[in-house]
Amino acid sequence: MAVREGRILGVGTVESLAQWGPATVDDTFADKIIVPGFVEAHAHTMDGAVWSFPYVGFFDRVDPDGELWPGCKSLDEVIERLTEADSRTEGDVLFAWGLDPIYFDSERLSRIHLDRVSTTRPIFVFHASAHLATVNTVMLDQQEIGADHPAEGVPKDSSGFPTGELQEPAAMALAMPGFSALLRSFSQADSVLRFAAGARNAGVTTVADLGTVQPADWPLWERMTSEPGFPVRVVLAHRGYTGDDTQTAVTVVTKAKTNTDLLRFGLVKLILDGSIQGYTARLNWPHYLPDPEGVRARNGLWLIPPDALAECLGAFHDAGLMVHCHANGDEALDVFLDAVQTVQERNPRADHRHTAQHAQLATPAQFRRMAKLGVNVNLFTNHIWYWGDQHRSLTVGEDRAAGMNACRSALDAGVTLAFHSDAPITPMGPLHTMWCAVNRLTPSGHVLGPSERISPSEALAAATLGAAYQLRMDEEIGSIQPGKRADFTILDSDPLTVEPRTIRDISVWGTVLSGVVHQAGPAVKS
Ligand SMILES: [Zn+2]
Repeated sequence: MAVREGRILGVGTVESLAQWGPATVDDTFADKIIVPGFVEAHAHTMDGAVWSFPYVGFFDRVDPDGELWPGCKSLDEVIERLTEADSRTEGDVLFAWGLDPIYFDSERLSRIHLDRVSTTRPIFVFHASAHLATVNTVMLDQQEIGADHPAEGVPKDSSGFPTGELQEPAAMALAMPGFSALLRSFSQADSVLRFAAGARNAGVTTVADLGTVQPADWPLWERMTSEPGFPVRVVLAHRGYTGDDTQTAVTVVTKAKTNTDLLRFGLVKLILDGSIQGYTARLNWPHYLPDPEGVRARNGLWLIPPDALAECLGAFHDAGLMVHCHANGDEALDVFLDAVQTVQERNPRADHRHTAQHAQLATPAQFRRMAKLGVNVNLFTNHIWYWGDQHRSLTVGEDRAAGMNACRSALDAGVTLAFHSDAPITPMGPLHTMWCAVNRLTPSGHVLGPSERISPSEALAAATLGAAYQLRMDEEIGSIQPGKRADFTILDSDPLTVEPRTIRDISVWGTVLSGVVHQAGPAVKS
C-alpha cells in the first residue's frame, strides 16, 4: 500500500506505485498480516469506565491495561470479591459490574446475599446484560423501594418485599446513588483513554458508542480525540426517545456538521426491549421456556411503547438521520420493522440505512422483510459463546437457540450484515466475534445451529465493510482501496487461512489509523 496524507494512495507492487513519485518503503509489517481496520459498530464507552470498579462476571476478563480479572464461578465467589472490594474502597456506594446470574442455577443473587457484604453501605451490582442490577437492603431502604413500590421491573420475593433485583433503566434509576456512580465515571478522561486503548488492542480502528455518551460529555470527547496519538475513530450515537425527538434530531443534525476525522456524530440509537438472558427481551409466541420460580416478567419489557415507535423513528427519519434500534427479541424486531415500513410509506427515503441491533431471534422471514425494507442487521454473535448453552437450556430452547444470530440466513436474504461485542456486555474483540460466526461453538463444545455458520471471508467482510456500511462510512473505510482512509489492523497470522477454530487466538499487533501506527499496549494514564 502507498499511503499519503492519511489515505490509501494506491495498492500494488513497489514498481507500480512508483508512478506516484518518490517514496520511502516501510517494511515494518513485512512478517505480519494486514487486513482492513476492524469496525466495531456497537459498543459502549462504559467499556472504559467500568474498570474503575470491581468485576464480578463469570468469564475471565483482561482489562485495557492487560490485567487479568478472574471470573467468579459461584455466588460465594461474587460475595467474596464484593467483601474484599468493600474493605479496600471507600465511598458512599459500592458499585460492581459484570454479574451474570444465569450461570448460577442454584439460586439468584438477591438483596439477602448482598446484605452479607454490608448492611450499612449501599451496594449496586450491575449485571452483564446492562439491563438489570441487584442492590442490597440498605439501598432499597434509603431509596424507599419497599413492598408496595408500584414500579414495573421491581420483582418481589415470597414475603412480598423486593428481591433487590431492578429490571431495565427505569427501575435501576430508582437506586440512583448506584447508577450515578457509573454515570459519573463516564465523564473522566481515564475512562475515555481506557475505552480507546481497549479498542486499539482489539484491532479496532473505528468504534461506535451506541447511545451512552451524553451531550454534556461531547467537549471531553472533542478534546481527547483531537490530542495527538488518540488511537481510534469514534462515532457517538445520540440516544432518542429521551425527550422531544424533533428537537433531538435538530441537535444531532447540527452536531454532525462539526465532524472531524476521529469524532463523528449523526447516528441515533433507540432501545425497544431488554435482554434475552435477563428475560426482559420481547419474544413472539411461544415466548420463554417455563419459569419454575415464577418471578420473572412473563414476556419481557418494552422500553419504548410499541405504538409510540413509528412517531419517534419518524422524527429522525424525516431529518435524514440513521436510526439503529435495539430490538433483541423477535417481537421487538417485528415492531421495529412495522415502524420502518410506516415511515417509509409516508416519507420514502432511498438508502436510509436504519439498522436492527442484536435481532438475535430474527427468523428467515424477518430477514427477507428486512431486505425489502432496506434495513441492515448488526447481530450479537458473541452470544453464541457467552450464553449459547443457557439459551438452549434456560431461555428459548434447543430449536430457537440453533437459529439465533443467524448470519447465514441474513446473508442469504441479502441483508447487510455486521456483528458486535456490545462491550462491555462482552469483551470487544472482532476476531472473537468473527470466530463465533464462523464456528458457532458454545463452552460445552456444542455447535449451535451448524447451518448458520459463515465462512472466514464473509466474517471478515462483516467485521469491516459490513459495519462501515451501517455507519454510512463505507465510502471512506472498511476495505483497502485507493482513496479510503489508511486504516489497517495488523495481525500475527491470517484469519482467512488459519484453522477456523483458532481465529480468536490470533494476536493483534496493533493498528494503523489514518496512516498513523498504534501498537497494542496498556492504556496511557492521564
Ligand atoms: Zn448496546
